[in-house]
Amino acid sequence: MNRFLPYFALLKPVRGAFIGALVCGLIFGLASGFGLPFVAQKVFPVLFGGHEEVSQMTLIGYLMILPLAFAIRGISGFLNTYLISVCGTAVLNQLRAKVFGKLQQMPLLSYQNHPTGDLLTRATGDTAQLQNTLMAVSNDLIKYPMTLVGAVAAVIYLAIVQHQLLLIIALLGVIPLCIFPIRTLGLLLQKRAKQAQAQVASVTDILSENIRGVREVKLYAQEKFQATRFGRAIDTLRKFSLKMTKYQAALNPIIEFISVVGITIAIYFAYRAHLTLEAVAPLIMALYMAYEPMKKIGSVHNSLKQGAASLERIEQLLNEPADMIDAPDAIPMERAKGKVTFKNVTFSYPRAEHAALKNFSLNIEPGEVIGVVGPSGAGKSTLLNLLPRLFDPTNSNNLNNSENGTIEIDGIDIRKIKTIDLRRQIAAVPQEAFLFNDSVASNIALDEVSSESTKQKIIASAKRAQADEFISRLPRGYETTVGEAGGKLSGGQRQRIAIARAFFKDAPILIMDEPTSALDAENERSIFASLQELTQGRTALVVSHRLKSLHFCDKIAYMENSRLVDFGTHDELFARCEGYKRLYIAGGDEKVLA
Ligand code: ADP
Repeated sequence: MNRFLPYFALLKPVRGAFIGALVCGLIFGLASGFGLPFVAQKVFPVLFGGHEEVSQMTLIGYLMILPLAFAIRGISGFLNTYLISVCGTAVLNQLRAKVFGKLQQMPLLSYQNHPTGDLLTRATGDTAQLQNTLMAVSNDLIKYPMTLVGAVAAVIYLAIVQHQLLLIIALLGVIPLCIFPIRTLGLLLQKRAKQAQAQVASVTDILSENIRGVREVKLYAQEKFQATRFGRAIDTLRKFSLKMTKYQAALNPIIEFISVVGITIAIYFAYRAHLTLEAVAPLIMALYMAYEPMKKIGSVHNSLKQGAASLERIEQLLNEPADMIDAPDAIPMERAKGKVTFKNVTFSYPRAEHAALKNFSLNIEPGEVIGVVGPSGAGKSTLLNLLPRLFDPTNSNNLNNSENGTIEIDGIDIRKIKTIDLRRQIAAVPQEAFLFNDSVASNIALDEVSSESTKQKIIASAKRAQADEFISRLPRGYETTVGEAGGKLSGGQRQRIAIARAFFKDAPILIMDEPTSALDAENERSIFASLQELTQGRTALVVSHRLKSLHFCDKIAYMENSRLVDFGTHDELFARCEGYKRLYIAGGDEKVLA
């Protein structure tokens, strides 16, 4: 239970419902634990004690007591369950939102340490498991401990009334005996539940790989191999699930057996004390009422342990470091002019043997368009990703650490700029644009499309990206969801949507990482024409291995082995930089660039 204590703070918005649930649970517990045996003790002797006839009114009054007690028990039980669910789901929603928020804040590189299946399982499977726990537990968490209290009170009351203190000892002696199996099985269950959830993650991983990699699976006839892999993963999951079932199912019979031993001892003491049947019946009923909740409390404990396993996995995710939190004195930035300066920048990926970027210095004037070229692995993508701070070279808030160099926009260190403002300055066209399963319009605006002016701006951006024509031909034009259009969108059309996005964003700085490498030659030429228009009036960094398509660049930065080797116009580099010349010739036709 202690595991869940910090989360009680999340009950704040539903405080009223929680208190209501507690009160209803209390009423339910007293009505069932104390009320029923009490009724049995008061009513049965009058009706069946062999005394004189009772009046009609008294009979009706007595007969009404039982339905009334059950009505109170029923209504309070219902309200308790419902109100606890209100609280449970409120807590869960906050937890889900927190997990989502964390996924948004997690640095890009942290995603490398978590396979997709693992993240998905923590975000959905583990929160669902927690919901199951809350729901299963919500029914019983308050009601049964209250029933236990009520029933124990009834036993004590009856034992005192009948001067049978030994019975109290029989009762109180047995309850602690139940705690041992509850605790042991609970711990075993928690361990297995954690393993099972991790295994669910592995299963999800194999599934998602096989869905994303369906082409490779088919082309390389991987079906059998993948099916075996999947089969092995689900077998392991089954093993863990069965172990969990074993621990869950074993608990009730164990507690029941201990209870029966308790009841037998009570019967023995009652016999020795020469109690009458009408004195024994309510006592046995109260005893049963005390043991029954023990069973429930045991399964509640089990559920809580299972929930705790998931909670632990969720917490591991919540405790991951967050992405560059802005320095307290981070400054806002209006639209930048677009001067970009790399000053002696060195960057290594975590656990990498070699730096991906070494002492990189480059000064780019506003509006300059720079082609970044070099053999693969030279560090070109890394360079582009450092500008919007997708990776942070070192401790982002440690501005005194100049060892790794600085990157500046308009002369301001990017680590000093509010991240949201920094990213507003930069539009990106990646190798393959990611489209959200939303309308084409939303995919261009990357926001809610509500106002007419936004719609006009979307169309204008699409026109400039030469995307308007094919979008208009889609079944519902700009309102067509990308999912519906799905396979109908070609690679080139997707890239055009990405370019329209960049036009829409209208940022002063552009980064483009191999924007045409997934396209055929014809598409490539026309996309480059759109890209060229996009670069008008903006600072741009364009990585491409199609060197001959970079004729619109003002200057070329040639990189090799994480370093900037040369920087200048195509003609300058072609004349003096051996590596560039070789790459260029290998890449093809010189005239196009000249
Ligand atoms: P380019 O874009 O020129 O092909 P990259 O910038 O992608 O080069 O990579 C530069 C170097 O950094 C390469 O040696 C590559 O293996 C390494 N690298 C790239 N991305 C990662 C990453 N996410 N984690 C670790 N190493 C990486």
